[in-house]
Order: sequence, then C-alpha cells, then structure tokens
Amino acid sequence: MTRLDTPATDFIREIINEHNRTGRFGGRVHTRFPPEPNGYLHIGHAKSILLNYGIARDYNGKFNLRFDDTNPTKEEQEYVDSIIEDVRWLGADWEDRLFYASDYFDQLYEWAVQLIKDGKAYVDDLSPEEIRAYRGTLTEPGRESPYRNRSVEENLDLFERMKNGEFPNGARVLRAKIDMASPNLNLRDPVMYRILHASHHRTGDKWCIYPMYDWAHGQCDSIEGITHSICTLEFENHRPLYDWFLDQLGIFHPQQIEFARLNLSYTVLSKRRLIQLVEQGHVNGWDDPRMPTLSGLRRRGVTPEAIQNFAAAIGVAKTNSTIDLALFEYHIRQDLNARATRRMAVLNPLKVVITNYPEGQTEELEAINNPEDESAGTRMVPFSRELYIEQDDFMEDPPRKYFRLSPGREVRLRYGYFITCTDVVKDEDGNVIEVHCTYDPATRGGYAPDGRKVRGTIHWVSAQHAIDAEVRLYDRLFTKENPLDVAEGEDFTDYLNPHSLQVLTGCKLEPALAQAVPGEPYQFERKGYFTLDPDSTPEHLVFNRTITLRDTWAKMQKRR
Ligand code: ATP
Ligand code: MG
Repeated sequence: MTRLDTPATDFIREIINEHNRTGRFGGRVHTRFPPEPNGYLHIGHAKSILLNYGIARDYNGKFNLRFDDTNPTKEEQEYVDSIIEDVRWLGADWEDRLFYASDYFDQLYEWAVQLIKDGKAYVDDLSPEEIRAYRGTLTEPGRESPYRNRSVEENLDLFERMKNGEFPNGARVLRAKIDMASPNLNLRDPVMYRILHASHHRTGDKWCIYPMYDWAHGQCDSIEGITHSICTLEFENHRPLYDWFLDQLGIFHPQQIEFARLNLSYTVLSKRRLIQLVEQGHVNGWDDPRMPTLSGLRRRGVTPEAIQNFAAAIGVAKTNSTIDLALFEYHIRQDLNARATRRMAVLNPLKVVITNYPEGQTEELEAINNPEDESAGTRMVPFSRELYIEQDDFMEDPPRKYFRLSPGREVRLRYGYFITCTDVVKDEDGNVIEVHCTYDPATRGGYAPDGRKVRGTIHWVSAQHAIDAEVRLYDRLFTKENPLDVAEGEDFTDYLNPHSLQVLTGCKLEPALAQAVPGEPYQFERKGYFTLDPDSTPEHLVFNRTITLRDTWAKMQKRR
C-alpha cells in the first residue's frame, strides 16, 4: 500500500506527495539509478542512489538498477561488475530489477522507424563537424540540413542500411525533425542514432548503430514504468526533448525531476578526471583509498552507514553548491566512533624498559573494547618488562605544558601502570633509542591507591607480544579547495597533495589485531580510525587509516 501521508522532507518528496494526491501515477512510486558503465561509482553517485532508493523505500515503491550502456567504445564489463558491487554495498536493493538500456535496443529501433514514418525523423548525411556548424548558437538560430526533407521511403531505406552496416562510422546519422530555430539547442534536430562499428559488452556485434543517450534515456524510463525520473540539473534543458519524444511516441510518460549534483571541496567527482588520475598513475587504481570512489572509500574503511548519514544530512537542493569535505569527515568520525573496536598500536616505536619489572614475567591487563558500546566488552592485553611507546610521547627536554614522558616525570600507561622515567640510552648521534623507567606495582589498572594524579596517559604495546605492520596514512588528495578552478595552462593534477599517502613500516600493534579483517573498523587509541587493507597477508599486515580522531585541518586553519 502506498503511504499518501509521507511527510515532505525535500522538494522531490513534495512533488511525489502532490502526484499521489492527484493520482497522477495511481499512487505508484518507481525510481531508478541509471549509471553509464564507463567508470567506477563515486560519492556523488551515492547521493543519487540513496535518494532514488530512499524514495522508493519510503513510499513502498520500487527501485531499479539500469545500466545506460549506449556507448560501446567507453564501456566495460569491469565497470558493470564494480557498479553492482558498490550499489549493493551501499544498501540499495533493486530486487530482481537489474536492467540494461541494451535490453531495449530492438524496441528503440522500432520506435525510431515509427518516427521516420510519421515524418518526425530523418537520415542526415552531414558530417559531425557540419552538423555542429549548422546547429547555430544560443544567439543565432541553426540552419536546416539539405537532407532534412528526404522522403519517408528514402529515410526508411537509408536507416535500415545504416543498421545493416553498409556505411562507415560517421557517414550518416538519424536525427529528430523538430525545430532548427528553437531557443533550446537540444531541440535543434538532435541526433538519435550514430553509426559505430564496435562490439558491445552485451549485444556483441549485433548492432553497428547505437542510440544516443538522449534518445534512449526517456524511453528506457518509460518502458520500465519509472514514475519519477530523478536526474541532475544539467538535464533540465533536455527535459523538453525527452517530453517531445515520449509525446510523439504516445507512450507512458514519467516525470523528470532535477536536483543539484554533489560537489565536494578538495575533491573531483567527474569520471573523466578520475579516469585520468588512474591512467596517469597519480593513484594506485580506482579503489585507491584516496579516491572519492565507493570502492576507494570502502577500502579506506568508510562504512555505508557513514555515507548514508552524510547523504541524509546534505539533503537535496535545486541549486548547485559545494559541500565542505569536513562535513563528510564529520559523519565518518561519528559513525566510526560508535562502532570501532579500540586497540593500542604504536606507529613510531620507541623502546621502554621497565627496570624494576621482573625479567621473563608477563601479565594480562584488562582493556575496554569500546567505551561507546558496553556490549563490546573487554579484552586482555599482555604487559611485560619491555614495551614500545610513540616516539613523540617522550621528550628529553620538554617545553612547559608537555605532559607526557620525560626524565623524572610520571605518566600513566593506558590500562597499565604509572611509570617514571629514570634514564635514557642514546646512539652515537645523541638520539634517544631507549627509555628506562620504573613502575609502581600499586597502580595496576592505571590508578594510584594514594590518589596521586598524573597529567599524561599514553598508549603502549608489549615488545615481546607486539605484531609488526605497515600502516598507510592518508590525507586529502588535493591541496586546492576547488581543484578544477585552475589558471590557463594548469591542470587539476598540478594541485595533487604530494603528502596524500605516507607509508609507515615497523609499526607495533597489540596482538589482538592479528584477527582483523578488511572493512572492520578499529580505533587505534589516540591515532585515529583504521581498517585492514585487502593487500594485507598474515606475514605482512597492512592497515589503512580511515581518518584521524579530530579534524586536524580545522585546527591548522585556526592557527593561521
Ligand atoms: P560523471 O559526471 O562523474 O561522469 P555521470 O553523470 O556522467 O557522472 P552517470 O553514470 O551517467 O555518470 O551517472 C549516473 C547517475 O548518477 C545520473 O543519474 C547522475 O545524475 C548521477 N550523478 C552523477 N554524478 C553525480 C553527483 N556528483 N551528484 C549526484 N548525482 C550524480
Ligand atoms: Mg552521465
């Protein structure tokens, strides 16, 4: 049953509510996500998927996944597979309705023949350059092609011969016969079919003419009974053309609704640019954790829920704007804070020897798995005489306000004991390579029975029990807020952040992390949120940092 009283939360739902009130679609709500399989999906696509799927779900309607596979030269099965995986991962469910525009090539061809018979389409022999020149501009009307008034018979014959492969690429096209003087350039006899002797990933060599996106899109929606054809603003001035096609054919007429695409600061969201980053080797593939692709975000450790929360927070609008990347990062942190299992990991190790702790002794200390989630329970962490701490948690000659370890200073080891630094060991160059401490056995668990306080708490791992890992730290891929806003002669790749990837080796992790699996979120205490990388093997563990605990960029900006 369709809910007629779903509260409007955005302008699209308001339109749908109105349709439900007037009975325009008999209370039906059917949406779709129509990707072209010419690249991997990015966070902008996620906005569209969640919008379309969310509407179908909220109105007890249906949601289709349809590949707009009308361009065989740019499309590949690899992209189809990745898109299916990513849409499913995001949580959108198309049930049994996975379709391809190529499923409808026969029907589209028949409809084109119908338009020719009705005198509404013609075969044009002008070259692509001539067609462009004849098209006119926003201020000048176009000119009619000398082939515009061919007879229906001649058009039918030529179109069939186009289909039969008698002509080379570019020799002829089929055009709609609308109005070369229309103020809307899309209505100046748009091309419907082009000749392309190319194999298609699904139809193989059956076709050597392929429908243009504008000819295919609206009719595909109509065939599937899509009620609300939601797309981005660039298609607003294509709507009159889609309406014209549907009206000429007299078939079911979906309502197109345009919304503003997602733009994110410090990010590019255009497949063409993303392909360039991959092909020129600026990143290590589509699923590089620095990419704004769904596969990259997944690999980095971002969850579908974080993306869903972000999409809900930004909503939909009718005017284009750019969302601050920090808002996305905020939702990533919020989500991971609630669900990430806490562990201790030392990224830049410095050895600490507890000189009054018995040699050969080991004990287990209880540590909380997630203070945000009591049901996550606790674990035991091994403790022994030799530990690792972070290099920057020790300073031999600290400034005021440095509350971590330094000679004579007492600090708390998280879940462990109070320790006091008594001595340091240096190499020939004077670098501290080992710190000697004593511990107070009465402070087990991190609290002193006499009530004395320490100013600093640091994390640690037992040297003998620690596991080694490589840890990859990521930063924004671009240094410029709008990487596409470049001066003449520059390329957006000139603004790639040279420090977007930092690889740390020889990191020391708490042993429980040997059980990690990719995608499972961890908080390394004080160091951020991490997940295991798919490159990881038991012999060579690799973790990705999803995000830092705090927004370090905001802090930097304040300092400036
Ligand atoms: P790109 O601009 O990245 O090449 P596209 O629009 O060409 O994307 P499609 O595969 O045609 O890619 O997109 C499928 C759907 O995703 C379309 O309905 C499109 O409107 C939507 N979409 C694409 N980019 C965004 C975005 N940045 N924000 C919201 N929706 C988007
Ligand atoms: Mg597109």
